[in-house]
Amino acid sequence: MTASIDTPTGINVYCPGDGRLVGTVTDMGAAAIGDVCTQLRSAQPAWEEMGPAGRATWLLRWLDWLLDNEQRLLEMVQSETGKSWADASMEMAVAIDVINYFAKNAEKFLADRVVKPAGIANSVRRLRVQVRPYPLVGLITPWNGPLGGPMMDVVGALVAGAAVVSKPSEVTPLTWAEVTRGWRDEVEAPPVLACVTGAAAAGAAVVDNADMVMFTGSVRTGRAIAVRCAERLIPCSLELGGKDPMIVLADADLERASSAAVWGSMTNAGQACISVERVYVEAPVYDTFVSLVTEKAAGLRQGMDAPGSFSCDIGAMVTASQADIVQRQVDDAVAKGARLLLGGSMKPGGRFFEPTVLVDVDHSMACMREETFGPTVAIMAVRDEDEAIALANDSEYGLSSSVWTRDPRKAQRLARRIEAGSVSVNNALVATFQLPIPMGGWKNSGVGTRFGGARGVLKYCREQSVVEERFALKSEPLWYPVGPVKSRLIAKAARMLGAHDWRRRLGRPGR
Ligand code: ADP
Repeated sequence: MTASIDTPTGINVYCPGDGRLVGTVTDMGAAAIGDVCTQLRSAQPAWEEMGPAGRATWLLRWLDWLLDNEQRLLEMVQSETGKSWADASMEMAVAIDVINYFAKNAEKFLADRVVKPAGIANSVRRLRVQVRPYPLVGLITPWNGPLGGPMMDVVGALVAGAAVVSKPSEVTPLTWAEVTRGWRDEVEAPPVLACVTGAAAAGAAVVDNADMVMFTGSVRTGRAIAVRCAERLIPCSLELGGKDPMIVLADADLERASSAAVWGSMTNAGQACISVERVYVEAPVYDTFVSLVTEKAAGLRQGMDAPGSFSCDIGAMVTASQADIVQRQVDDAVAKGARLLLGGSMKPGGRFFEPTVLVDVDHSMACMREETFGPTVAIMAVRDEDEAIALANDSEYGLSSSVWTRDPRKAQRLARRIEAGSVSVNNALVATFQLPIPMGGWKNSGVGTRFGGARGVLKYCREQSVVEERFALKSEPLWYPVGPVKSRLIAKAARMLGAHDWRRRLGRPGR
């Protein structure tokens, strides 16, 4: 017997670290997701009515609950991703930062904007822009950050007054399902946040029901979602892949830069869209830099360490297919002449890809062109700044980047030339987590931004312009009837006020 479309089936979740079954979620059909969305929509008006301060209070209560359940939730993160405990802990840090920031600024970010009218004729009016949320925001997230990933976007949407239907990745759905259960059942917050589970079809159902979509994931899926959103005439914001370059100039602090190259490429086992994937080093310091990176990467401890022990630096690959991509890229690079100085393959037992250092790479190799999303760092020597910039920009991606030099003017110059949504100077990855500034991708790395102060909330809102008359006269000059005297007078006045010289003001013919 075949199951009907909406007969729920289960999706099993396995731990990448040790292969054990850690949970099961329902593969929800489109009808069930539609029902969830209907319920969210009916709860949304009261949520919007509550105002920013009221909503912020609920978010802070949710944060209290998250912190009270930190150990249990991070164990869940760890068991569905195989992360090191340190990487899992980062996810709670993201939740803390984002909730506090948007809760604290909610009222300010959502305040009405009073605007001065333009032109004398409009000076009799009062202009105001107020914002109203998209009633239902769809949030679709990938598997690399089951808690921190959705948190980066759900908070802005809830603060805005939207209801949110969120769909975590089918690979790592457990933590988010629990965190949204906490919102509903433990915090007893208004029922404006729901988690729906399933794979691509469930994601498509979210897109079909939402009024605005926030998506993080692959370019391929992002494009499919953008097409569907265009058909539905709803906006979407997409944070997609990255191939982030790091440029190390000869005058850089090599000790610091090499540590950043290792951390920036290996944190979360390299499974971050903003991880360092390509390093361009000026020739005079290339050898020193390479040996520092290799030595530091060789010292990394890999495994899924005991909760709370903080004894491993780097964890597992979440999916087998991603591990295959990393292996294929390493093999391709070596076949084309790259030197493998460290790692290069899976370790036996668990899904752990060894910390890997590839050098003497070039742009004919997949590891310099395609997203790797694994614990590898590929280093290439460059002649000078110009070559570094040309290579850094030779990519379909443009998410984040970093430049390393002791000269602030050089750093400024390089930053202006890099085609990427953010540039960190003498640091890696940090630009992403500065909540007051926008984080977004150029080129195939995305459309729109997240965070960015007020914009992180306003992106979930529609602007409503309100124009009020100061004096309500019986009639307006532009209203009917049209007549030669009145209409000529209006046209003359417009010319008098708008022209920039006397000949034109007076309507004299040109010479
Ligand atoms: P990855 O598999 O690398 O995480 P994807 O872009 O395939 O990247 O997946 C990211 C998220 O998008 C997941 O939650 C996934 O279920 C969802 N998804 C996949 N295909 C679609 C689709 N066609 N429409 C909506 N969501 C989708």
